[in-house]
Amino acid sequence: MNGMDPLVRATLSVRSLGRTSVGAIVSCGLGAYWVFAVRSGHVGIDSAIAAATAASLLIARVVQKLSKRDDAHYIERDVGMLSGLLLMIVVQRFAGGVDGPWAASVYLLMALVAAVARPLAIVQTGLYILALEASVRAFSLHEPVVEPMVARASFLATFALASTVVVRAEVVRIRHAAQGKLDAELAKIKEDARSYRLLGAGENKSEDRLERASALEIQKAVHYALDLLRRTLGLHTAVMLWQNTRGTHLRISELSTESDAIHDAPFPVGDGVLAAVALNKERVALSNLRPSFKVPYYDGPSPIRSLLAIPALEDGNLRGILAVDRTTADPFTPHEEELVQQAARFCVRAIQNERVFVQLERAKVEQGKLYRAAQALGAALSEKEVLDAAVRAAREIASFDLAMVTLYDDTAKLHQVVAATSENGEVDDLVGAKFQHNSGLVSMVVQNRFPLPYKGEYDGDRQVVLTRNYPWPKIPSLLVLPLVLHDRPLGTLILGARRRHAFGDSVRPTLEVLASHLAVSLANARMVHKLETMATTDGLTGLFNKRAMLEEGKKKIAASARFGRKMSLLVTDIDFFKKVNDTFGHDVGDVVIKGLGDILKRQKRTTDMVARFGGEEFVVLCEQTDEAGAMLLAERIREELGKTTFHSDKGPVNVTCSLGIATFPEAGKDWESMFKAADEALYVSKRTGRNKSSAHVPTRGSTLTPPPSKRLAG
Ligand code: GH3
Ligand code: MG
Ligand code: MG
Repeated sequence: MNGMDPLVRATLSVRSLGRTSVGAIVSCGLGAYWVFAVRSGHVGIDSAIAAATAASLLIARVVQKLSKRDDAHYIERDVGMLSGLLLMIVVQRFAGGVDGPWAASVYLLMALVAAVARPLAIVQTGLYILALEASVRAFSLHEPVVEPMVARASFLATFALASTVVVRAEVVRIRHAAQGKLDAELAKIKEDARSYRLLGAGENKSEDRLERASALEIQKAVHYALDLLRRTLGLHTAVMLWQNTRGTHLRISELSTESDAIHDAPFPVGDGVLAAVALNKERVALSNLRPSFKVPYYDGPSPIRSLLAIPALEDGNLRGILAVDRTTADPFTPHEEELVQQAARFCVRAIQNERVFVQLERAKVEQGKLYRAAQALGAALSEKEVLDAAVRAAREIASFDLAMVTLYDDTAKLHQVVAATSENGEVDDLVGAKFQHNSGLVSMVVQNRFPLPYKGEYDGDRQVVLTRNYPWPKIPSLLVLPLVLHDRPLGTLILGARRRHAFGDSVRPTLEVLASHLAVSLANARMVHKLETMATTDGLTGLFNKRAMLEEGKKKIAASARFGRKMSLLVTDIDFFKKVNDTFGHDVGDVVIKGLGDILKRQKRTTDMVARFGGEEFVVLCEQTDEAGAMLLAERIREELGKTTFHSDKGPVNVTCSLGIATFPEAGKDWESMFKAADEALYVSKRTGRNKSSAHVPTRGSTLTPPPSKRLAG
């Protein structure tokens, strides 16, 4: 493959060289042959063959050029050279020779080539023609060469140059004109869309496209009606004039005409013969008009002799005028008038239909955004997920530079910023900020459950957003939306933008709907959180419940096994608790249980986990704690409870507790065996006098109690 490479490349380049230079070689060869033939005076069948060869190659090249499949420079060069050669043969043979009357036709050829070919091909063609003629003069005719050839060369150059300049200038002019026409057409379509009242404000690209498509749809329908009308009634012109939004001017929105003297410029509604139609909303029918009669949509005097103009009304309001005219003097018959009336109604309906369509289409887009927002909000479970989803959804509806959510605590009359994000981070630090209810925008929105400020326009000098203590960036657009659930204000969604009028009429209603979705989702997230807490927390003590401890305990034992760490489990049970209940009542019993819970919370380290396991039994799980450490903790708990006096109607209450300790991995390798070991240790404490802590002893289940010096009597 490597050895082949240069060879293949050489073959290919020779082939391509052959393809691109065959025309030039043939041209030069045939040229030389022609010079020789003229010189020998022998111009016979072989010359005809030479000419035919040149002609067929020329045709091949022209076809190649026209097919546009291959647009290489050599094709243009070959066309130039071969047609130069053929022209030379024809001139020499049939038209009086190089000084004959047709010799100047070569300039025409040059001008033609210059009009279409590339500069290099033009130059090559010119040089070839000059060389050929010079050779004929020098070798065949034995004439002087320099003088006539200088003249020929300068003329050829002049023609080539002039042709190039004129053609290129024309191309530029045509392109320019086409672009101008296109721009004007787009502007008109936009203008039409506005006057048909399809337009919101053209807020974005897809809106723009929608309106343009609609305007085109209307134009098609209206044009169809006008065309039909014109052909049926033999009209000169049928034109729909449409009023601009302010109702001051009329302008052609569509027409069908035989005239080319119609102008497109808007004219005042009160102008000329159409004023009566516009002002009185009544038809005007004129016939037998004098030849110079003036109609506003004709340039200069019009050729028409009869005219009928009908108001196009929508809900009794003038929207436009349908005008039809003829070059014959006879008036429009009642039947014809009826047809025109119907066409006018048809046009108005077409416009109404499209307007409805655009509104539906726009509503569909908004619905889609809200649907996606509702889905995202519905899928979010935690408060943070909900807030993130809401900000993302809001971005689909409007563009903004900052977003914030505040929540309101009605009992404390306190607002709190729970989420804030901004492009430049001006407000991000405010997360967690709390402020009293005041007369700022957020407070007012919560109080009145109504969005502020008016039209989403913010005046930083006069309006306070949160409170005076929290400065707000100087931005022109702001929208504070209430988060309301069942008439109860939860807080606000705040959006801000550096752009003016960012929260216009076209986005505010959608954002308000989003805010109510957000309120529901926030309330749901809180509910979920509450349920989750309830599912894992003991109601009396606020500690974990048995379920949470079982779940966590198993994970923590697995983690200790993986990292080869110690871990201890403490189980406590209050001594003779039945007696407390019996003597002081169940309520006092509860107070005691809660009191032990508080002691456990105080004594535990942050990494320890405490749960109420049922009744007056608690479990403490201490990570990275050996038996000695667990025993210290157990003793501290036991001592503190022993020293604590609870109060009741029937006098002071004192209790003690017993504890059992099991340490991983000696006492057991999994939760069940660990718990069983701790429970056995607790049973030992109970059996050997209560108010004591015992550690589980692996061998034969015997259990140790701390040395007597450490034991305190209860
Ligand atoms: P000991 O543990 O020392 O052997 O004696 P005890 O009397 O404490 O016996 P045990 O632990 O078996 O009794 C638990 C008692 O705690 C039974 C029940 O009356 C009471 N109890 C269980 N749950 C609660 C509770 O939620 N509140 C109150 N006040 N008492 C409870
Ligand atoms: Mg018990
Ligand atoms: Mg007990």
